[in-house]
Amino acid sequence: MSSSLFYIAKIAELFAAKAILPNPDMVIRKLLTDSRTVVDPEGSLFFAVHAQRNGHDFIAHAYQNGIRNFVVSENRNFDAYADANFLRVNDTLKALQELATFNRNRHHLNVIGITGSNGKTIVKEWLFQLLNAEYHIVKSPKSFNSQIGVPLSVWQITDDDTLGIFEAGISKPGEMEILGKIINPSIGILTNIGEAHAEGFGSKKEKLKEKLKLFTNVELLIYSPYYTEGLKSSELPGKKKFSWSTNGVADLQITTITSTQEKSIIEAIYQQKTITYQIPFNDKASIENCIICWATLLALGYAPEEAKLGLAKLTRVSMRLALINGIENCSIIDDSYSADSSSLAIALDFLNLQNQHPKKTLILSDLYETGRKDEELYAEIAALLQQKRVDRLIGIGVKLSSMANLFALEATFYPTTQDFINNLPVISFANETILIKGARRFEFERISKMLTLKIHDTILEINLNALAENLQFYRNKLTNGVKVMAMVKAFSYGSGSFEIANLLQYHKVDYLAVAYADEGIALRKAGITLPIMVMSPEPSAFEAIIKYKLEPEIYSASILKSFIHFLPEQEAGFKVHIKLDTGMRRLGFEKEDLPQLLELLQKTNKLKVETIFTHLVATDQVKHDEFTNVQIAKFSSLYNEITKSLNYFPLRHVLNTSGISRLPQAQFDMVRAGIGLYGFDAALARNSGLQTVAVLKTTVTQVKNLKPGETVGYSRLGILPNGGKIATVKIGYADGYNRKFGNGVGKMLINGKMVPTIGSICMDMCMLDVSGLEVNTGDEVIVFNHQHSIVDLAKQIDTIPYEILTNVSQRVKRVYFYE
Ligand SMILES: *Cc1c(COP(=O)(O)O)cnc(C)c1O
Repeated sequence: MSSSLFYIAKIAELFAAKAILPNPDMVIRKLLTDSRTVVDPEGSLFFAVHAQRNGHDFIAHAYQNGIRNFVVSENRNFDAYADANFLRVNDTLKALQELATFNRNRHHLNVIGITGSNGKTIVKEWLFQLLNAEYHIVKSPKSFNSQIGVPLSVWQITDDDTLGIFEAGISKPGEMEILGKIINPSIGILTNIGEAHAEGFGSKKEKLKEKLKLFTNVELLIYSPYYTEGLKSSELPGKKKFSWSTNGVADLQITTITSTQEKSIIEAIYQQKTITYQIPFNDKASIENCIICWATLLALGYAPEEAKLGLAKLTRVSMRLALINGIENCSIIDDSYSADSSSLAIALDFLNLQNQHPKKTLILSDLYETGRKDEELYAEIAALLQQKRVDRLIGIGVKLSSMANLFALEATFYPTTQDFINNLPVISFANETILIKGARRFEFERISKMLTLKIHDTILEINLNALAENLQFYRNKLTNGVKVMAMVKAFSYGSGSFEIANLLQYHKVDYLAVAYADEGIALRKAGITLPIMVMSPEPSAFEAIIKYKLEPEIYSASILKSFIHFLPEQEAGFKVHIKLDTGMRRLGFEKEDLPQLLELLQKTNKLKVETIFTHLVATDQVKHDEFTNVQIAKFSSLYNEITKSLNYFPLRHVLNTSGISRLPQAQFDMVRAGIGLYGFDAALARNSGLQTVAVLKTTVTQVKNLKPGETVGYSRLGILPNGGKIATVKIGYADGYNRKFGNGVGKMLINGKMVPTIGSICMDMCMLDVSGLEVNTGDEVIVFNHQHSIVDLAKQIDTIPYEILTNVSQRVKRVYFYE
C-alpha cells in the first residue's frame, strides 16, 4: 500500500504555515502544480507556484476540478472556497521542495540520480526497462527534472519501492544544490556535457562543476572522462567510480562501433577481456545512451552476459504525444509508449483540447502503477474518464477487463492487443478523436499504425508546447489587461489549422485572425468558438460570415456599404473591425475617407465597431522608427476623430510580432501576434527567447556512387569532377522546397552533417552531395530545424522566413507533438 500519505494538518505543521483548516483530517496522497492534471482530487494538494504562469490564477480551476487543499503565498481573497484547506507559506516552491525532501529522507532505498546535457530521460527509461524485473522502481514521470518536476517525482517514493531513478536538469547556477538535496542519490550518472552557451552557463567547466553537485554524497559515480575534461578523477565525487570511453582508457573501453541500417555492433574491453554487444539502434545519441546503460549495469555488478541480453531488447521511448490524421476522418493521438495515471491525465487533457470531432474515444491498456490496489486504481481512472468527458472506452488487458463494471461510459474490453486487432474489422470508428495510450508491453504502436493514415516520408513536425511557450513569451511583454489577437492566416503560417487554433483557444488568446472567410469557416466547423476576424471579406463570402459569426475587417466605404446592405433588416450590433491606412498603402481608410465612414456608421444600427486598427510597415527596423512613430500618431488622431462621432470606444491595436518586442509604448488595448508564435522575430537577435516550432524532415530514397565526370539531374547541372556519392531525398519544389535551393545553394542535415544539394531541384525529389559520408537508404534528412534554421534558408535564397514557412505545401503531412 502506498505510504506517501499525510494528514493536511501534519503538512501544515511541517511548514509552520498559517493555516485555515476547515477539514484538518483530509489525507494527502498526491501533489500537483498544474490544475489540469488532477486525478485524485480529494487526495491532492495544489501548490500555487510561480512558474510560467502564476499558480494562484488557477486556484479557481483547481477548485472546480474538486481540489480542496491548497498551499499559497499570496494574500488573496479565498472566501469563495470556504470548505477548502489553505496553507499560507512564504514561498510555495520551497514548501513543495521541503515536503519532497522530507519524504525522501524517510525512505532508505538505493536512488540513481541522472544529470547531463542530453539523454537523461532516455537513460532513465532504459534503466527502468533493464532493471524493472528485479526491483520495485519509482522514477521521474516523463522528463520531470526541474525545480518543480523533481519534488513531484520524489514525492512518489513509497515503502514498497526498492530503487528510485530520478533525473535532474538545471538552467542556472545554484539550482543543482537544491535538486541534489531532494534526490539525495546514492548512485550518480553523468550522461554528457554539451556546449556551455546552449544552457545559460559561462563556461563548460562552470557547467560541469554545477552539474556534479547532484553527486555530492554518492557512493558510485558513472561517467566518461571525455565529459569531465579539466577535472582530475580525484576531484570527482563518489567513493567508487566507473568510467566509460569511446576514445581512451576506461573501465569500459569501447574500441569499435559498426552501425548498419537497424542495429549497431559495439566492441569493448572490460576487465581485460574483449566483449561484443549488439543494440537495436544506429543513431549516435542512442548508441551513447546505450553505452551509459551498459556501464551502469556493469558498475552495479551485473555479469557482462546478463547485461548483453537486456541491451539487445531495449526499445525506443517517446515522451511526446503525437496528433496525426487517422482513418475514417478520425484524429489520432498516439501515446503508445506509457500508461500510468498521471500521464493519462495529461494525455486526456490534450484529448479534451481537441474540438474538431464531437466524439472522444480512449484506447487504454492495463496500467502500470506501483503500490496501488487494482480496485482503487481503476475506480480512480473511471472517475477521471468521467471528469475529462471521454465518450467511449476500449480497454485492453486482463485487469482492465475484469474491472469493466467500474466504467459507466460506452465501453468494450479485449484481453490482449491481438484480440483487439482481430476484431478491428467489426469495430467502427468515424469522425472521432482517438487517444491511444498503452503500457510498453502491450505494443500499442501496432494499433496506432493501423489507425493512422500512412505518413508520407516527408513530414512537418509541429511542437505545440513550443508554440504555447512562444505565446507566453509575448504575453510576458504586455502591460496588464492588453489582449492578444493570434494571427492564424495561411494555415497558421503553414503550421496547421484547427490544431493550432485549438491550442490557442485553450491558452485563452482573445481573438483569432484569418485572411479569408473559408479559413474562418473551417475553424468554426472544427469547434473553435473564439471571435475570428476575417481580413479579406469578399462580398461572395458575406453569407458565410454571418452564418458562422465571423467578424469582417472593413477597409473601405464600398465594402462597408455592401455589407450593411447585405445584413438583414432586423440585424443589430454585428461586430466589425475598421482598418486604417497610416502608411502601408495597401488597405484601409485614410483621413479624407472618414466623413463618409462616419456617416455610414451613424445611419445604421446593424453594426458595432468592435476594434479599430492599423498595420505598421517596419516594426523590426530601427532606421524607420521615425516613420513608425508618425504612423502611430496618425492612428491615434484618426481613432479620436472616429470615436467622437461613435460615442463608444472600440479596442485599438497596431502591433505585430516585432512591434510587441520593440514598441511597448504602442500596445494600446490589443496586439496582433503572428510569426513570433511560430518562433521567428526579426527584432530579436537570433530569435533569442523563442522556441523552434516547426521541423521539416524527409528521408533518403537511394544512394548512388558517381564516377568522375558524370552529371546529376536535369540539364546536367550537377557535377562532381572527382566523382563521389549522392543521396536522393523525397522532397522537391512541389513540397515547397524552392528551385532556387538547387546546385549547392541549399543545404540539409544528414546524421548531424550539413550537406549541399547537387543539380537542380526536381518536382518531388532532389539530390544531395554526400561524398565521404556514411549514408543509407531510409536515413532521416532534416530540411530545417532549430540548428538549421528557416532564417538561414531564407538568406540562402534571398527571401524572408515567412515565405519559407508558408511555402511548405499542403501535401506534406503535419504531425503535432505535445509533451
Ligand atoms: C499578418 C499580420 C500580422 C502579424 O504579423 P507578424 O509580423 O507575423 O507578427 C499583424 N497584422 C496584420 C494586419 C497582418 O496581416
